[in-house]
Amino acid sequence: MQMSKTIRGRYAPSPSGRLHLGNVASSLLAWLDVRHLGGELIFRLEDLDPERSYESFAELMADDLSWLGLGWDAGWPDDAGYSQGVRSAYYEEAFEFLRREGLLYRCWCSRAERLAASAPHPGEAAPGSCRCRFLTGDELRRRESGPRPAACKAVAPDRDITIIDAHLGEYTQNPAREGGDFIVRRSDGVFAYQLAVSVDDALMGVTRVVRAADLLSSAPRQRWLIETLGHTAPDYAHAPLLTAPDGRKLSKRDGDLNMAELRRRYSPEELTGRLAYLLGLIDRIEPVSAAELVPGFDWARVPAGPIDISGVF
Ligand code: GLU
Repeated sequence: MQMSKTIRGRYAPSPSGRLHLGNVASSLLAWLDVRHLGGELIFRLEDLDPERSYESFAELMADDLSWLGLGWDAGWPDDAGYSQGVRSAYYEEAFEFLRREGLLYRCWCSRAERLAASAPHPGEAAPGSCRCRFLTGDELRRRESGPRPAACKAVAPDRDITIIDAHLGEYTQNPAREGGDFIVRRSDGVFAYQLAVSVDDALMGVTRVVRAADLLSSAPRQRWLIETLGHTAPDYAHAPLLTAPDGRKLSKRDGDLNMAELRRRYSPEELTGRLAYLLGLIDRIEPVSAAELVPGFDWARVPAGPIDISGVF
């Protein structure tokens, strides 16, 4: 008899600021998705970039999710092995494998490097292709012996890669043409987001990735990396972004809508009720617990496009 595979979702927050309303909406959907499917949830701390990660924010994130009743079954902080900061050996192994396969090259460009350890949210520099891949002879030797250390890029596959998003449907991208080669290790040695998240989702047995829609365009690259490393890619479901009344996406910079302020204004059930209403999960604003939303959870009720929070928050 064939055993059915455990459904495993994940929280993967970067502790660079307090959770804001948009993060909470994605977390609620990640939790509901996996609870509705009867699966389990892990908490992975994405503290890859030492310069942008703060333990105090990590603790507050865990506390905020617990306060909302959005608990998890394994991971940080009980198990420090779920923190990216201590997982370099796994990234190193994958990196060496890709290098042996001839899929990496050294790159001396500075463009986009600074942000490569973080998830690429819109407005931030996107990695592109560069001429370092084709350097030969004297020019290559000059770079190699120069003062500037090299970053490492993966050669993006030049073919269509399709993911079937459980919320948004089919999404196809040719990574070489849309985005180009991408950094897998920065010149300071820090592994980049795309590599770390792919290795972790693969090794942690993640089968459901629910996260905000601004990471949809990363999913084909991650699918390719995971499959190249010999694993099965997870299913993806990308959650709608929440937008402020002026149309901009909520971000960690919107201090007035972070959990510090939200916890002052609302009880967990009041906040969950307002979010559930915005996400189309209930028909009017009323207090509700996350657990009460599990039986009726249905992605078909959740809008596909960005959601304006005005009138509700
Ligand atoms: N750590 C990323 C962030 O907080 C999310 C990464 C992911 O879900 O793949 O934006």
